[in-house]
Amino acid sequence: MVTQVQLERHRRQLLQVEGMCARQINVILTSIRRMPPEQAAATLHRMVPAVVSRGGTAASFECARFYSEIRAAQVGGRYRPSAAPGARTAQVTSNIDWAVAGMLDGSGSDDVRSRLLRSVPRMALSAGRNTIIQNADRDSVAVRYARIPMGPDPCAFCVMQASRGFVFKSDSMNEWHDNCKCVLTPSFEESPRAEGYDPDVYYEKYQKGYKVAGGRRAGETAKDYTSRLMSAMRSENGLR
Ligand SMILES: [Zn+2]
Repeated sequence: MVTQVQLERHRRQLLQVEGMCARQINVILTSIRRMPPEQAAATLHRMVPAVVSRGGTAASFECARFYSEIRAAQVGGRYRPSAAPGARTAQVTSNIDWAVAGMLDGSGSDDVRSRLLRSVPRMALSAGRNTIIQNADRDSVAVRYARIPMGPDPCAFCVMQASRGFVFKSDSMNEWHDNCKCVLTPSFEESPRAEGYDPDVYYEKYQKGYKVAGGRRAGETAKDYTSRLMSAMRSENGLR
């Protein structure tokens, strides 16, 4: 079983990575305060990628540690985890472009801080989760994952994913939200479990939504059905 101690420690470490990114972004923002917008934007393009890279390395290191810790406890033996590459340069550039857009066209310079404080930790944590997925792909032992909400208020999408319990490889593991504080949790056991995580609690919320939404209608796309189902889950359970 994945223990509460393992999960809590991992969550704390990831929060620290987010905090480190935020502090470094704030230092950079202070240094550009008096610069004209073009110069400020150029400075951000020069300095922010290093923050993304350091944050990604720290998150990957922590995720490799988490993976190895659970693997050692459940499987034993030796394992050398690898780290996934961090965010691509093009992705970092486009996130910075998005953050500085309002400052450059004069529509709102307040966006810079809030957008960087969202996108930089997000890119860092994503490198960490990719590390878990990469190790699972390379591992000779079969791995299943669960999305375990660790925040007080997970959204309908995350509740729906959490209701599935531990599953083999899944595309839905590509979508993550800043506020839901979910943890991508690997397990190597025959009947995977994690302490404090009961998929049935989430399944019940899913079922309440399903009772109202019903099945997929003729002609309805999978995407449209999912959003109708999630909106029923929201209204039936008071979810975000
Ligand atoms: Zn969510």
